[in-house]
Amino acid sequence: MAPATDDDLAALAALRAEVEACTLCDLHATRTKAVPGEGDPASDLMFVGEAPGYHEDQQGRPFVGQAGKLLEQLLASIGLTREQVFIANVLKSRPPNNRDPRPEEIAACQPYLWRQIELIKPKVICTLGNHATKLLTGDPAGITRVHGRPQATAIAGHSLYLYPIFHPAAALYTPAMLTTLKEDFRRLPELLAQAAPEDGAPPPAGAVPAPAATPDAPLAKPEQLGLF
Ligand code: URA
Repeated sequence: MAPATDDDLAALAALRAEVEACTLCDLHATRTKAVPGEGDPASDLMFVGEAPGYHEDQQGRPFVGQAGKLLEQLLASIGLTREQVFIANVLKSRPPNNRDPRPEEIAACQPYLWRQIELIKPKVICTLGNHATKLLTGDPAGITRVHGRPQATAIAGHSLYLYPIFHPAAALYTPAMLTTLKEDFRRLPELLAQAAPEDGAPPPAGAVPAPAATPDAPLAKPEQLGLF
């Protein structure tokens, strides 16, 4: 993990201010606070969720509700705290009633996420759930098909592993999904110990064993789970 340079830190602070004042999509009119993301700007590990929910919108911080508590427990299970990773979302503003992000909102917000990746240069990005996974892989394959399998790729000119996992909000009330999420999480340290991928090369054979097949199951929306 290379320390963040002063220039990178200044650029991240400027980006944060830009996100907080952003009016690029209609969500600025209904949000309380924008949620730029937070954590260690030099971390090898970044998490990308879907969008702020009620508590995140109130506080301007990502993953501070029940899903965030689960994420913190999962991090603790591999010896990490939320301060040691960087946590961001596809959308930086809350969609009303936690509805799905719309294509035009994702398109408006995407440059912010790409810029964060360019500045933080993580070795591994865990995409949480369908929206982050589809955006960062550029592939419509759903999370139930691709979870737990690292994919070497390049984003914003930076080579890294994408590691799709279930969204903690969806796993909170679905025991089978929670079990799978814990198993996928357990393999993260091994992936982080690998050398960074070079120009989209696949992960070294046998580095991270493929998970057992999981049957396709629809992901519940957080509001259906009574989370927000
Ligand atoms: N769900 C998300 O996707 N992001 C958050 O910040 C909180 C809940």
